[in-house]
Amino acid sequence: MRRVALVYPNRYVGGIANTGLQYMYAKINEGGAVCERFYSDIFEGLRSVETATPLKDFDVALFSLQYEMDYFRAVEIIRKSGFDGLKIAGGPCVMENPLPLLNYFDAFFIGEVEDHIEEIVNARSVEELESIPGIYTGREGRVKRVYSKLGRHIEKEIIGDGAYGRCFLLEIGRGCVRRCRFCIVRQIYFPPRWRRKDLLPEIEDEKVAIIAPSPSDHPEFREILQHYVEEGKQVSPSSVRADTLSEELADLLKDAGLRTLTIAPEIASPALQEIINKEITREDVLNAAELASTRFEKVKLYYMVGLPGESFEDVKAIVEQAREVKKLVRRVEVSVNPLVPKPHTPLQWAPFGGKDDIREGVAELRKKLEYIRKESKKAGIEADISSYREFAIQTILSRGDRKVSQLLEGVSHRKFEDYLRAIDVDSSLPWDFIDHGYKKARLVREFEMVMETIKKTL
Ligand code: SF4
Repeated sequence: MRRVALVYPNRYVGGIANTGLQYMYAKINEGGAVCERFYSDIFEGLRSVETATPLKDFDVALFSLQYEMDYFRAVEIIRKSGFDGLKIAGGPCVMENPLPLLNYFDAFFIGEVEDHIEEIVNARSVEELESIPGIYTGREGRVKRVYSKLGRHIEKEIIGDGAYGRCFLLEIGRGCVRRCRFCIVRQIYFPPRWRRKDLLPEIEDEKVAIIAPSPSDHPEFREILQHYVEEGKQVSPSSVRADTLSEELADLLKDAGLRTLTIAPEIASPALQEIINKEITREDVLNAAELASTRFEKVKLYYMVGLPGESFEDVKAIVEQAREVKKLVRRVEVSVNPLVPKPHTPLQWAPFGGKDDIREGVAELRKKLEYIRKESKKAGIEADISSYREFAIQTILSRGDRKVSQLLEGVSHRKFEDYLRAIDVDSSLPWDFIDHGYKKARLVREFEMVMETIKKTL
């Protein structure tokens, strides 16, 4: 019987809250193979959770890479474990650009794996893997990303103390109907797909987490919430778009037991709206805060900094907006991340930090993050402010080629400063070989529109 290791090179709390891993685990075990899980904070990722079996005793290791920073732990696990079976990586990072990892894996799966799990698990060699759609082994030529039909809801999964608490994960959709210019989801999970309300599963657990990139865009979102609220369950969506929140929906979320309303305006200054195309206005945020004031304990706001064309005034607007929300809601938290100009998005050519001069951009980015930290503290706003360094490394790994693997060998990220710079739109990109179904000319047009807007406003 084939022994399959499912490796999540990050903490259990994130891995157990991942619907893709849940699906793979169930499907592999049902399909006649033995699948066991590995998390980096349990036995350092070197022994399985189920039976403490060493990784090296498995035939195949499937790594799920959700974040670029997980590459470091993935490489460490491979090294320390002495595993010499087939190593295959998948997940959103692999779908955007697997090149920095080419030295460590036998193959990458570019896409949604549901319809191909059995073939992958049963392949005995790299040559056999190469005949499976979506597999990339480093060979020349384009690879077409594969996606699944999404099908029925998952009915059985392992319940653990995950990122959403101890709950059943209900994935209601994949992909997104919106066109935010910084967002990888709209590209790598295209086309948007929903699971239907009339096929909802019976859930025994008391808590249900509703998972989708933008759950409140689901055409039957309210009905889905209502269905489980009527069954007496506590239901929480992964986020709610501020412009979809009405009085009726806010009441329903309150009945569902929601305590913190999480919204992601991303920017607070109207001038940047044209750059990111998120289409959440100041009015939407204040309206959501007003509705939250009598229903929820806390509002959590997500923002980005380091956008092309961004000024210090735009950053001040973030603090100003959070202060306005604080006037309405007792507890407010801001979470601020630098923009990672992701492959396959219209902002993929933009410099990290938003400036052509990288040193200047990074120095400003540090000042901006420090400003938000200080001013939030003064205003009694909780602040979760990221380190610019980690996001610079994420940018290098996500836009890197094979040379960037040196970063994973301990070489300083400063050596790879060039990968943070603006990229010429006419140059070929390391990740051009992945076919996500979009026309590059369309991304170029969007990026040029962004640049035009910046020129006009400067
Ligand atoms: S940022 Fe959210 S709303 Fe915008 S495209 Fe991505 S998933 Fe959709």
